[in-house]
Amino acid sequence: MLRRLVMLSCLILALPAVATAAAEPAIRLPAGIVTFADGRRPIEALYQSYLGLTEKGWTLEIVADSRPSGAPNALPIIALRSPTSGAAVWILAGVHGEEPAGPNAIAATIGEIAELGRRRPVVLLPLLNPQGYARNWRYLNVAIYSDRIDGQSVGDSSHLLPSPEKSDSPRASSASSPEADAVTRFVLRRSADYPPIVSIDLHEDNLIDEGYVYSQGTFGAGDPLAIEAVGVLRDSGIPIKTSGETRFGEEISGGIIGPVIDSSIDELIGSQQIVCNGRVRKGPAARTVLVFETPAGNISLERRVAAHAALIRRLAALLGSTIN
Ligand SMILES: [Zn+2]
Repeated sequence: MLRRLVMLSCLILALPAVATAAAEPAIRLPAGIVTFADGRRPIEALYQSYLGLTEKGWTLEIVADSRPSGAPNALPIIALRSPTSGAAVWILAGVHGEEPAGPNAIAATIGEIAELGRRRPVVLLPLLNPQGYARNWRYLNVAIYSDRIDGQSVGDSSHLLPSPEKSDSPRASSASSPEADAVTRFVLRRSADYPPIVSIDLHEDNLIDEGYVYSQGTFGAGDPLAIEAVGVLRDSGIPIKTSGETRFGEEISGGIIGPVIDSSIDELIGSQQIVCNGRVRKGPAARTVLVFETPAGNISLERRVAAHAALIRRLAALLGSTIN
């Protein structure tokens, strides 16, 4: 049970009183947040679910207080890491705020994630764009993709990834937002003691009718976990696009797309090299980096959450029983 305290105008999500009150870390949420109403869980309920991991010895970290221009209050981007450090499974969700299935599925499977964290190191970034989640905005600065406005993604890593033309220069001179700066700094910092070996990132796409899986890691489209994931999605009733191209023109093979250059946080996690402060450095270089894109337009949120939850359960069971 989490204790709920009201202090000034803030809701405080406090940890269970297992330590002294003074030692309790907490996240502060503004009162009266209105979460977009499409059946997704209220954002307070998500945070409460995620913070349950601290009862299992996980450590909470505030990656950033996200307050893009126009947002009435700051909301925390949180990370949780399992009690044991070492080569880790990273789980990411909620980069795009109009894709609620991932963050809701993580809340629904928090027990399985806790169990995985008992067996091997895990880093969880369950709600990377809380402002976008609350108001159903894809980006920090704009609700939907636009040709006219550059959408600021919390996962934009272009300021650290080598330019394809000039590998000792980054693709952008600086981070596109304070949030992207903080998230990428977190990835690099935590890659030291929880180096990602497997990373999964839960996405949706309301402009596709059939889903697919990006596999950014060493094994590309042949990654056994990507193949497994396609099977789980199929079993969950999610149509899969097995061949042809994505809507971005990338080749699909068996429902899987091999490594792509998209300047995403996933590309960063899988990258062998990065450019940081003008110097080429070794990147996190995760062996398996999967990004799930499931169709959202014609499928109820309940079914989408169930599919993402099935993915988490299956991968957690596999990763919890093997040393990858
Ligand atoms: Zn997305």
